[in-house]
Amino acid sequence: MRSISFFCQCLALYRRLTAGRCLTRSLALLGWLLVATTSGLAAPSTPERIKILYTNDIESVLDPLPAFWRSDMQRIGGISKLATLINQERAVDQPTVLFDAGDIFTGALSKRTGGRLAVDLYGLMGYDAITLGNHEFEYGWQALLRVLPRAKYPVLNANIFYEGGAPFARPYALIERGPIKIGVIGLMGIDAFMNTMMPSNRKGLEIAPLESIAQDWIDELRNEVDVIVLLTHQGRTAPMQTDKERDAEVQRGIDEEYALAGALRGVDVLIAGHTDHGLDAPVRHPRTGTWIVQTYGQGMHLGILELERDEASAWRLKEGRLQVVNADELIDDARVAERIAKARNEHPDLLEVVGDLHEPIVRRYYRESSMGSMVADAIREAAQAEIGMITPGALRADLAAGPVTKEAVLNVFPFIDRVTTLDVPGHILQSVIEQGLRRDYGLPNYSGLTMDYRLGEVPDADLKSVKVNGEPLQADRTYKLATGSFTATGGEGYQQLPEYVDEQMKLSVADAIARYIASYFPSNSPKKRSKDESP
Ligand SMILES: [Zn+2]
Repeated sequence: MRSISFFCQCLALYRRLTAGRCLTRSLALLGWLLVATTSGLAAPSTPERIKILYTNDIESVLDPLPAFWRSDMQRIGGISKLATLINQERAVDQPTVLFDAGDIFTGALSKRTGGRLAVDLYGLMGYDAITLGNHEFEYGWQALLRVLPRAKYPVLNANIFYEGGAPFARPYALIERGPIKIGVIGLMGIDAFMNTMMPSNRKGLEIAPLESIAQDWIDELRNEVDVIVLLTHQGRTAPMQTDKERDAEVQRGIDEEYALAGALRGVDVLIAGHTDHGLDAPVRHPRTGTWIVQTYGQGMHLGILELERDEASAWRLKEGRLQVVNADELIDDARVAERIAKARNEHPDLLEVVGDLHEPIVRRYYRESSMGSMVADAIREAAQAEIGMITPGALRADLAAGPVTKEAVLNVFPFIDRVTTLDVPGHILQSVIEQGLRRDYGLPNYSGLTMDYRLGEVPDADLKSVKVNGEPLQADRTYKLATGSFTATGGEGYQQLPEYVDEQMKLSVADAIARYIASYFPSNSPKKRSKDESP
């Protein structure tokens, strides 16, 4: 991280680099002021209104998900269904904008297309601006730069820089919609950048604390626009659990968003991403009046925020809610569905069936789960290690009962991690286990370990004993641990692990999972898993 004064220099540099654009902007502003002044001669009889549609953390969940926790629908979400809902909301005769707060990549087809599919889909859905999430760096920042020219909309971030100071992305965008001018600024949190990205994917980049940079841009834009919107990708990492909407325990809170909304002057709306802490109604900061909104992510809801103002008054909330994407009722948007089908057709191997499940395998963010156990088993078996470990943030989808395709496996684990072995002293292993029980990034699942523990309210936990393959853990013995390369290289705060890495295998974690499913749940076979697990 760099100092604040360094980033003030960067701000000046960005202003110099974009001086031409500033001039254009000023001319456009002059035109807008003339229009505003002229129309101001006759006082408007109806209040000005703006409808802000928003999403966050869709993460390339392309298809509807089984809505097993809801009684009002069978399936929820799906990008082509979401697109239809967006079009319905946009059809209303008033200024409407559409924003996303980051994490558009992940999933099998996003990975196979190097992010091209995701970038194209947001264009087809008509987004006005998005901000960069940590997952956009998943194929390396160089790959991100290659794909970004396809975006027909601004992709924002104001606080990531190249080493040396040049801004990595465009910090803000100005959008005119009818008579209303909106300034939108993109920001990422330090933890999202440092702890939820593979270090190699951000090598050569730096991040600055977002607050002072945000205030600088707000002050720069405030007098030019009617509405300031922040798109933030920060806070605690989202719970990877499909039914998180009904599970209050795993909700990650909006502490950082609330603190930011209270600290910054001049922000109307803060659209949050990364924590997936769905807000069924907007939260207004009492001191600054900033509205905070966020969805539960994965395209399961569309956020709708309607603001109105009388002449010369502040924006007031007219309506704020999350509209569920009911996949049973919404038809597919043809252009979005066609683009997804085109990507699938270009990768027919993803339709290959690797196994057949008799029952679903699902995730639980704060608990041991059938998915966590299976993936830990798969990693341990592939590495022939004593212990397998997987962190729940790495598990991005559940598996439904029935045939399992290669695409479904890659949707579970869409990352580039390889199975990695480590020779870990017992006392270090103990510290890893204790750290995991705090659930900063959810509860890691293990294979080969037996733990006697009691979980209290996060982060409290009581670890009574640990056994490795039936024997009590010994502090002075070395254990062969296997996990994915992200965790092995210090991801999600496991800074004690990198020095004990033994070997990064050629085998990817995704392939280890596919092999395991093929072996224990073969297609066209009545064979069931021998392990005692229920989802
Ligand atoms: Zn994120």
